[in-house]
Order: sequence, then C-alpha cells, then structure tokens
Amino acid sequence: MNNNNGMPGNAELIALANRRREQLKKAEEERRRAAEQQAQSRPQAQPQAQPRPQPQPQPRPQPRPDNAERARRAAEGARLRQAEEAKRLEAEARAKAEAEKRKKAAEDRIARDKAAAEKRKKRAELAQKSAEKLDVFRKEYTGIFRDAIAYFAVFICLILILCTASAAFILIRMLNYGEPEALPDRITLTVDGKSQRLDYGDIARDGIYYINFKTIASLCRLSQSGDKAVTIYTAPCGEQIRFATPPARTVLINGNTVTAENDYILVNDELWVPLSLVSEHFLGIDVVVNEGKDKETGTPFIKINISRTEEEDGYAEISFRLKANHVINGISNITLPEEPVTLPDDAPQYEFTADISSYFKYMCPEDYDKHMMLINPSHPVDEAYIPEDLVGVPNPRYDNGASLCKDASLSLEALFLEMHALGFRDMKVSIAYRSYEQQKHQFDVYVYNERYYYSSNYEKNGKWFSDEAYAVLGKSYLEEKYISKGKTSLSADDAKRVAMSYSAYPGTGDHQTGLALDLYLPGHSGIKFAETDEYKWLVENAHKFGFIFRYPEDKVNITGYNFEPVHLRFVGQFHASLIYESGLSLEEYVAKYID
Ligand SMILES: [Zn+2]
Repeated sequence: MNNNNGMPGNAELIALANRRREQLKKAEEERRRAAEQQAQSRPQAQPQAQPRPQPQPQPRPQPRPDNAERARRAAEGARLRQAEEAKRLEAEARAKAEAEKRKKAAEDRIARDKAAAEKRKKRAELAQKSAEKLDVFRKEYTGIFRDAIAYFAVFICLILILCTASAAFILIRMLNYGEPEALPDRITLTVDGKSQRLDYGDIARDGIYYINFKTIASLCRLSQSGDKAVTIYTAPCGEQIRFATPPARTVLINGNTVTAENDYILVNDELWVPLSLVSEHFLGIDVVVNEGKDKETGTPFIKINISRTEEEDGYAEISFRLKANHVINGISNITLPEEPVTLPDDAPQYEFTADISSYFKYMCPEDYDKHMMLINPSHPVDEAYIPEDLVGVPNPRYDNGASLCKDASLSLEALFLEMHALGFRDMKVSIAYRSYEQQKHQFDVYVYNERYYYSSNYEKNGKWFSDEAYAVLGKSYLEEKYISKGKTSLSADDAKRVAMSYSAYPGTGDHQTGLALDLYLPGHSGIKFAETDEYKWLVENAHKFGFIFRYPEDKVNITGYNFEPVHLRFVGQFHASLIYESGLSLEEYVAKYID
C-alpha cells in the first residue's frame, strides 16, 4: 500500500526488489531452457565450460559467433543488469530507511531535549514561586507574631495597671476608713410577724433597701396580671399599680406616673422594688425600718418590719392612693394650700368624711361665676376656644392625657377622696376635655355610623336604622322616606340630626369647656351607671364639690341631649348648690339667674 503521495515506503521498496528478482530468475530460467533445446537440436560445442555468472562485475563475455551463445550472453547481461538494479534499489531503500530512522531519532532527541528543557524551566519557575511564597509567608507571620507580642505586652501592662489601681484603691480605703464601714452582715426582715435573716447584700443595693414584691403582693392580696411589657398588680378594692419591664424607675399608680427612689429590678426572675415605693405609696400597710447598735455588744443591726395596718375592726383596706396630704396622680404637680381654707360666709358649709379641706379653694373659687360657662347648640364657641389651666385628671380610665381645668380637676380629686373614704373606690374618668377638632372628628364618626348603619348591622340584627334614628326621626318617617323605597342609607342631614341627639355638634359640646367629664364604673358604663349606688350618692352630693349633672333625665327637652348619668359638669360649689336646690338644668338656671 502506498502512502505519502505515492512514494513507496522502505518495506515496499524491498518487496518490489524481491519481486523483480523473482521475475528475472524466471525469465532466465526460460531462456536457459530455450537455449538447451536449441543446443540439443544442433549438437554444438558443450556449454559446460561456461562459468556460472558471478555477482561480481565480470568482464564482458567474448562475443561468440554462435547465435545461441550470443542470446545466452545477452540474456546473461540483462540478468546481471537487472540484478544490479535490484541491488541498487534495495541499497537505496535501506539507506533511505536508515536516513529516515536517523532523522526520526534526531527529531526525538530534539523533542526530548526540548521537553527536558521545558521541565527544567517549569521546575525553576516553581522553585522561584515557592521561594517567593515562602518569603511572603515569612514576612506576614513575622508581622503577626510581632503584633501578638505587642498586644500581649499591652495586655500585661493593663493587668499591671489594674492591679496597681486596685491595690491603691484598697490602700486608700484602708487609710481613710481604718476599718471597713460597720455594716451588719445580716438584716432581719419581719413580714406579717414572720421573721427571716437575710444577707445585707440581698436586701440593700446602692444603700437603698429593696423588697421582693412577691412578699408585698402576698401580704396585700394583690392579684397579678399583664404581659412581658407591663405587670399589673390589682388590690382587692380594684386599684392598680403597673410596673414596666425592669429595670425601670417609673410606675403607674391608678394611672398616675410615680417615680421610685431607684430602679426596680429583676432578681432570679422576681421583681424587687425599692422599699420606699411601698412605704410611701401603699395605704393599709406599715413599713418600719429600725437601724441601730446592740446595747451590749455594739454590733450594728437593721430590722425591717412590714405589717398590715390594724384598725378597730380588723385590718385597713389596701389601696395605692398616696397618703394624707399627698395629691394623687397626674395633677400632683399642683401645690395644695397647707392650711385649711375657710369658705366665704355666704357659701354653703358642708361636712366631709375625708380630710379635703385643702381642696376647698378649688371647689369654691372666690369668683363664684368663674366657671358658669354655658356651651350648647344655641351658645356655641368658635374653633379657636381653648380653656386655660388644663391639668391631668385623677383616676383616668385611659393613659391618654385626659385633662380638665385645674379647679375642676382638683375638686374631682376631692370628690374621689371622699367617695374613697366612703367605700366607693372603682370610679374613673373616661372622657374629660375635648378640643374642637376632637369633637368634630367624634361627631363625624357618629354621623357616618348613622348613615351607613344598614350595611354594618342589618345582617346581624335585621334593623335598617339605629334605635336613635327611630327615636329621633320616627318610624313612619323612616318607612315612608327610606324603607318603602328600598333606600338603606340615611341622608347626611337626617344622620346629623340623629347624631346630634347624643353627641354635640363641634363648637356646641359641654366637653369643650374643660369643665365636663364622663365617669366610668367597670360593668356600669353609660346609662347603666344610673343604677349604681355611686350614681345615687353623686345625685345627693356632687354639688358639694361644685359638680352638677348636666344632662338630667327630666330635662331632655330643654338640654336637647339624652339622659347622661355619667356626665358631670363643674360650675363651682356656690352655683352647683343653688342648681341642686332649684332642680333646674344649667340652661334654665343661666336663663333665670345669670343672663
Ligand atoms: Zn359627656
């Protein structure tokens, strides 16, 4: 098979030569046979003298006159030439193969050398790189090591400084005090007659005595509620003290912010409060702290005794009101006169159970007419009217900053103190001063609710309109104008008329005076309040504190408002007493005596 553009390969050349030799041999054989036949047919001189042809170059055989001899010689010559040619070809092929082999060997050697050189180069590069890496690594680690030593040195220095400082501190203390402050190791805590000895460090922090509030809660039978953010303790009388998440310093006592002497804290998940918070703000328990030295041994001692206040018929009730001469809650920033105030000669004189004489000047201001303001739909105030002297209210139901004019607020506090003394202790203030904007917003909400009563109530109660709508507009009017025509929502005007029967139109509401408030008694809100003993007591006594019922049951047609037993209005003791005596509404009273 030929390859490389028809050039024969070595092996093929050799094979070619062999074939040629074979052919030549055959041809020679035939010629010889032919010659022998000729010779036999013509007996001639024997050709046996003729030497066999030699591979070496031979002298050309002498031409013979004989034809057969000539043919034989020619054949011999041709044969020799062909043999030589074959030999030459064979040698040529062998030489070529040899050359090829050498060339290949040379090429291989070159390739090997090249590869070896490449390898050496790579190895050198690798070595270079490792050397570089090693160098970087060495440099880096030398740096880190140096840094570590530096840090360690600084650390050691700090430790030394600290030790020196501590030693100096201890030395100074020893020099200054000679001997440590004489403090008892243990404190005797007696709660409800049961004593226990506690480590000083357990009960005193920053020199302030603390008490585990659990102890107090148990002694006072407080119930606990609230969540993570606020813990509420409620006394049997319903009063509350609220703690924020410790550590914190302020508590809410009946809705009023009180700041403790120090933070109240958690110790093993239990609330510990400064003892002063309990001694100052709890009524019905006595806290006595006795610090001294034993007469015989001179050993210092601290004894804390906590017990319930005893009264003739048992224990005093627990409450969180501040003790006598302290003003409760949000208005505690107002200083009450220390001396009892005497009322003007012509002012009515009343007797009270609680000591509220320091409130008289607020209950009965010298200017009797100071609070005789009348606001109603026919006596509106404009948007800009804001009462002066607004302060927080006592016992607010919500922590929403409910406020009243100062005289009204303090008189209400006096009223609460008196009621408290008489056993009425759950009263709160739900709504007090309302600004024009607040009133407008409130009124708009009511109007909306009346207009679209159907869409949010019909499925629940089957009613098209509210009870108030039926009362104000009348059943036949609603039937004719709306129900018969399938109209489910009230017109804006009709809705407004209905809303005005129970809420003031902005600028006409009593709450905008800053002298009016709505009371709240749990379980007896709104109209239900009229069924309570508190209400009955207030009907007979509110005027003594300067308050009147602004929307009585029998004056609906005059005031234009439904009966509101929870709505009190401050006018001052002088006029309140006259209104009470006369049985008139504020509208009638003002029309008759003031205008
Ligand atoms: Zn009201």
